[in-house]
Amino acid sequence: MPSPYNPYMPIQRLSSLLVNQIAAGEVIERPASVVKELVENSIDALSTRIDVTIEVGGKELIRISDDGGGIAIDQLPLAIAPHATSKISEADDLNAIATLGFRGEALASIASVSRLSILSRPREQVEAGLIEIEGDVGGEPRPAGGAPGTVVTVRNLFFNTPARRKFLRTDQTETGRISDMMQNLALAHPEIGFTLHIDRRQKLDLPPRQTPTDRALSTLGNELREELLELKANERGIGMWGLVGRPSIARGTSKHQRVFLNGRLINDKSISHAIKEAYRGLLDHSRWPTIVLFLQIDPSMVDVNVHPAKAEVRFRNQSSIHGAVLNAVRATLHKADLTPRFDLNRTQSLAGALAIPGAPLPEFGSGLEAKPLGSSSSTPASSTFVDYFKRLDPQQKGFIYSEVREALAIEAPEMITDPQPQDQHEEKLPGVKAVENVLQIHSSYIVTQDAEGIVIIDQHALHERVMFEKLKARIESSSGGGNLESQRLLMPATIQVDRNQAEAIGELQDLLTRIGIEAELMGPTTVAVHAFSSLLFERNVDPVDFMHDFLEKAINMGLNHDPEAALHEVLDMMACKAAIKAGDRLTEPEIEELLAYRQTVERSSNCPHGRPTTLRLSLADLEKQFGRR
Ligand code: ADP
Ligand code: MG
Repeated sequence: MPSPYNPYMPIQRLSSLLVNQIAAGEVIERPASVVKELVENSIDALSTRIDVTIEVGGKELIRISDDGGGIAIDQLPLAIAPHATSKISEADDLNAIATLGFRGEALASIASVSRLSILSRPREQVEAGLIEIEGDVGGEPRPAGGAPGTVVTVRNLFFNTPARRKFLRTDQTETGRISDMMQNLALAHPEIGFTLHIDRRQKLDLPPRQTPTDRALSTLGNELREELLELKANERGIGMWGLVGRPSIARGTSKHQRVFLNGRLINDKSISHAIKEAYRGLLDHSRWPTIVLFLQIDPSMVDVNVHPAKAEVRFRNQSSIHGAVLNAVRATLHKADLTPRFDLNRTQSLAGALAIPGAPLPEFGSGLEAKPLGSSSSTPASSTFVDYFKRLDPQQKGFIYSEVREALAIEAPEMITDPQPQDQHEEKLPGVKAVENVLQIHSSYIVTQDAEGIVIIDQHALHERVMFEKLKARIESSSGGGNLESQRLLMPATIQVDRNQAEAIGELQDLLTRIGIEAELMGPTTVAVHAFSSLLFERNVDPVDFMHDFLEKAINMGLNHDPEAALHEVLDMMACKAAIKAGDRLTEPEIEELLAYRQTVERSSNCPHGRPTTLRLSLADLEKQFGRR
């Protein structure tokens, strides 16, 4: 038991072991921190290969071996001494740090909380040196055999600091953190080859001299290839390269968002904010983008000496970094067609499921195309559908409903939803509306085609985005005072509210004026709406319903205290309420108008909540599904 603190005790110097253990408290939190510090040392030593071995979550063994510059035998005691480094020598060096390490405390810290040995040989030396230290015992180097480079072995981490050891998680969790750390280190250094062995199993084998893209795909998974967009930019002295994930691969945690500054993984609130901002409207609030972003800036423009593990940095010019990242990520997303593709890899291939073993699939040009469309009504529908696509002329731009229907030999049943009398010559399917090249199906989806394949649009989601962008543009435009048009109501609409909502009405006046709503308190719990947003009015939105929902949301989200968020939310709500609904039958001009907007409106691939508006099934995927490839 430690003795209780006595306030009359004299001041004394702490032993160097204790000093180092205190420092270790900041730098070495868990096995993954040891891996990080040691691999960073190997990277600083200009290694071309780094091999990492761990056992029992890194608690029993961590070994890092490299082929870098090595440490001369007489320097080994200094390497493990605190505040001893070869990377800086004077105060000025702190202004422009070009290495990952510089504090000279990692090895001393690790040595104080583990059983450490370093075997190292500079290339020009014939013999290696070995130093072993346990707590403060040992530390005399002696000659030994070894290849050029350095092998650092850390055993029994925290054996002498039980408090720390207690805080470690299960072996599996610690192993997971080490793997994540290795991924990040490897991502930042595609020029270096890495291996990772966990409990004698090889988990990572990355060759040296990979391109950044290849390294990213081999660490993150090659299946992401189609989902990542390359970012390349140079703005305000900030070089940027990265892979920006489509909204479809966003995740529930921020773990897949990685930002590297001059080869160092950093965690920077302002950059995270810029990234989130660039994805605004493409992602739901709870999702984080998958993104790998490398920033290269003059080291003198950033202070990396603000965090013991150097995970946080301070920029000379925070706002220009924010602006540059925001612009670059936004532009990358903007350039791309973000329409998500059907995930056919997850579903069983239709052709595979249908194929009879041994029976060859009919080949393209096997004579089937000679039959006129519709003459094959006796063949089962599935095969005629295949036939139809087989004989589809790739040059033929039109996608004509009646032909498909005939090819499918679908009997035209009676209209259920359309009360209008049937045209004798125009047979229709229930809930199907055919404009040229376009179908509306189930009064909810619009199906059309583009150069790549079939495009399916959720009419509500797309219209919601269109409305949102229109409203936003109008409110941001200076002409017209930035307020939305307003329509006076012949009779004011009255709404019963609770006391909180009544109070909020006062605080929300500015916002209401901006969106064209004039509402005032008429009694302690009654609100009168005198004028309503023209757009909502035209779209038959009920003022009472709207105000109810709006006030409820305003209170729940505390919008009366955050004008910027409130504006975004209310535009969102207006767009949603004004948009055509699933189940609304659209006229041909309405469909055409909606499709025209799809081409012009920003971020038309996603609704304002980040859900997709559009899905694409490419011809290539179709071919695959039909067993053509
Ligand atoms: P820092 O990296 O901040 O300088 P460390 O305690 O991590 O401090 O390392 C101390 C010194 O030991 C380094 O400055 C470097 O000269 C030397 N060193 C450590 N690891 C290696 C290695 N793998 N290869 C060559 N030299 C190394
Ligand atoms: Mg170091």
